[in-house]
Amino acid sequence: MRAFHSVGGTPRFIASAAGSQLVDADGNSYVDLVSSWGPMILGHAHPAVVDAVRSAAGGGLSFGAPTEAEILLAEELIARVAPVEQVRLVNSGTEATMSAVRLAKGFTRRSKIIKFAGHYHGHVDALLASAGSGVATLGLPTSPGVTGAQAADTIVLPYNDLDAVRTAFAEHRDIAAIITEAAAGNMGAVAPEPGFNAVLRELCHENGALLIIDEVMTGFRVSKAGWFGLEGVAGDLYTFGKVMSGGLPAAAFGGRADVMAHLAPSGPVYQAGTLSGNPVAVAAGLATLRAADDEAYATLDRNAATLGRLFAESLSAASVAHRVQYAGNLISVFFTEDKVTDFAGAQAAQTWRFPPFFHALLQRGVYPPPSAFEAWFVSTALTGADFERIADALPHAARAAAAAQNPVENA
Ligand SMILES: *Cc1c(COP(=O)(O)O)cnc(C)c1O
Repeated sequence: MRAFHSVGGTPRFIASAAGSQLVDADGNSYVDLVSSWGPMILGHAHPAVVDAVRSAAGGGLSFGAPTEAEILLAEELIARVAPVEQVRLVNSGTEATMSAVRLAKGFTRRSKIIKFAGHYHGHVDALLASAGSGVATLGLPTSPGVTGAQAADTIVLPYNDLDAVRTAFAEHRDIAAIITEAAAGNMGAVAPEPGFNAVLRELCHENGALLIIDEVMTGFRVSKAGWFGLEGVAGDLYTFGKVMSGGLPAAAFGGRADVMAHLAPSGPVYQAGTLSGNPVAVAAGLATLRAADDEAYATLDRNAATLGRLFAESLSAASVAHRVQYAGNLISVFFTEDKVTDFAGAQAAQTWRFPPFFHALLQRGVYPPPSAFEAWFVSTALTGADFERIADALPHAARAAAAAQNPVENA
């Protein structure tokens, strides 16, 4: 995505960022609606986060030994998400999902995983099948380098389709876990239908499988307790990343203590990491979460609603069929009138209208996600002046979307 593969043109090389603004190498500034793909909920170079990082760095970059700060971060995560009793810190969301899947397989002594088409769980081999995010942007069914054996243990089902899940459990005895984005954000914002996650949980438990809820994107962004805070459906295992490390590389997985007990060193399922619990990354995460109070979440919600209103007004004025969707304060705009509930729906939208829409915004100093299959990420740092800039740019973008030609029809 960051190569601008699906929108064309030259990616902007970012020289610096502060608050809501990105500044590129040519000195142009942009209102940032990507927020580093989620982590920067407080905006860039937030003083409290930068101070915490400077102070941690001055005390040593890595020890390969336990620290108090990693316990404080773990306690913050556990305090916010009730079903999480224990966590293990890792370095990226990919590592978190990879480790959670291994733990689920080790705990259940089963080999298969259910995932949903259009969901992205990082670049774990077994989870790349029909994945969202960059995999969707590039239109790949999976990735070369993933062997048949790795892919064979993954059952890919349509999102929001409980009958497909029931059928899969009826046909396969060997399902260790379902992994699902708490609310899908990697094919655009596609929330679970009411009751979907709750029934997934029931079906897992009836069939001796675990429910892994991937909150790498939603965690600590859509509410203080992530998607769990909005919906209240408890998973057995959770994965976190992005916001929890405030822009530095750290992530976590965790959940039920009896499941986590199977993890090394207390149990047999191996997991480790040279830089896990890195003191600088942990400091950034802790400072970010401590500053992310109720008021911050109210601001994020308000900013997402304002952006959604501006999308709808400008696209309606230009007579472009569209649908603004939310998953909490994750927001995206699909060029279709139909509600998008799964990957097929996201792919059926007029995604060819997106590149001109994108470039019209970029030209006018607004930095959108460079793919039709990504959510837009607001921060608390967006100002009234930023929204004026967005409001001035959107009518141009809407007209560019209206004028777009379907490349297939014109081929
Ligand atoms: C970003 C993301 C990941 C992967 O995290 P990385 O830190 O990029 O490896 C996993 N799951 C979800 C839902 C994500 O949005």
